[in-house]
Amino acid sequence: MTIDADVVIVGGGPAGMATALFLIEHGIDVVLLERSDKPHADPRAATYHPPTLEMLEKSGVTAELHQRGLIARHWQLRDRQAGLIAEFDLAVLGEDTRYPYRLQCEQHKLVEMMQRRVMQSSHSRVLHGVDVEAISQDESGVTVHGRQATGDCLIRGRWLVGADGGRSVVRKSQDIAFDGFTWAERFLVITTDFDFATQGYAFSSYTMDPIEWVATFKIPGDRPQGLWRCVFPTRPEEDEVDLLDHTRAANRLAALSSATYGSKIVHTNLYAVHQRVAKTYRRNRVVLVGDAAHVNNPLGGMGLNFGLHDAYELAPRLAALVRGEADASTLDVYDRRRRSVAESVLQAQTIANKKLLEEKDPLTRAARQQELRDTAADPERARHYLLRTSMIEGLRAAAHIR
Ligand SMILES: Cc1cc2nc3c(=O)[nH]c(=O)nc-3n(C[C@H](O)[C@H](O)[C@H](O)COP(=O)(O)OP(=O)(O)OC[C@H]3O[C@@H](n4cnc5c(N)ncnc54)[C@H](O)[C@@H]3O)c2cc1C
Repeated sequence: MTIDADVVIVGGGPAGMATALFLIEHGIDVVLLERSDKPHADPRAATYHPPTLEMLEKSGVTAELHQRGLIARHWQLRDRQAGLIAEFDLAVLGEDTRYPYRLQCEQHKLVEMMQRRVMQSSHSRVLHGVDVEAISQDESGVTVHGRQATGDCLIRGRWLVGADGGRSVVRKSQDIAFDGFTWAERFLVITTDFDFATQGYAFSSYTMDPIEWVATFKIPGDRPQGLWRCVFPTRPEEDEVDLLDHTRAANRLAALSSATYGSKIVHTNLYAVHQRVAKTYRRNRVVLVGDAAHVNNPLGGMGLNFGLHDAYELAPRLAALVRGEADASTLDVYDRRRRSVAESVLQAQTIANKKLLEEKDPLTRAARQQELRDTAADPERARHYLLRTSMIEGLRAAAHIR
């Protein structure tokens, strides 16, 4: 099989589907290649910040997210011993965004919503079951070598977007370094039917502890009462089978709150956590978006959102290129804008979030907690803090980069 396209997208996760969706909104034809047959349904991201909801408004995805997701107007900072430290009310962002809250809904549902719209468009061709193995480029375009169950395929595009996740074949094929580090500890995700709201938890809460912090948030699941996900750090030497064991997971939850006794463990999941940013987001006709370009810890729920923001910045630039209304230097602006905020905001904020939760020095912890209490109590300070943690400030700063 041989296909020609203006823009080829490798990867149909959140960043790839969003790139396709936004390009279609600009009237550009796309071919999207995805290895798997359907969106990955294992527990991954589930939090959407205000700018993301604004970007997905035009396609109708935001409206559908509101039907299927949960609005989290407040989020909390807690302490395992002391309980609630500070509660932030995103309503203070009412002048800054049309969506002054977080919206919580599982990643695979978002991908399915975007995919449905992309596949309904006459501008798109989505090919599932294509495993991209190699990419080469020359002056006029990019050649993609893929493997399908029926045999090899060759796809030729004028431009190529690598949205193929943290282990990106596209990034590696262009010899782009992925500098950063991997945390020693893996993160354990426990999904339960226990309702943490009965214990005073907001739909999104971060609990500090020098030994075992925890992030808890509510997701819709497939039942009216919803489910709760709890993310814990683990010790590097802990055994994977033990960590994933449901009885041990129940004990871990019970140590957090004895009220969880008797509740059901729906799912456990363990994953390695990285902080890395690609050295460049552009190599001639190839550009990177999403996890292919940056990976980070999930505290603050920023990674997936950031990939969608990449797509939103990239789509009009690619559209202008395809129409001959811009030259290729527009992709350098994309690189500078998105890479600089990945480094200064995404990496800095998520690392700071983790350090805050695990702070070991009691005096520093007490001082940070007092600072957060004071911030939450002062609407103007709270607004500034929430502009940063809701990803609005980073986008505003990036808009000034030329
Ligand atoms: C286990 C796990 C838990 C996570 N938990 C959280 C969380 O709690 N909070 C949070 O904010 N973030 C979390 N993340 C991160 C979040 O899921 C990612 O930021 C997000 O999925 C990135 O989207 P993406 O489209 O860039 O990449 P991906 O979601 O990785 O999508 C890449 C797509 O490309 C396809 N692909 C890859 N290689 C090829 C190839 N060679 N050929 C064709 N197709 C290919 C893949 O099948 C996949 O569909 C988690 C990630 C993982 C893996």
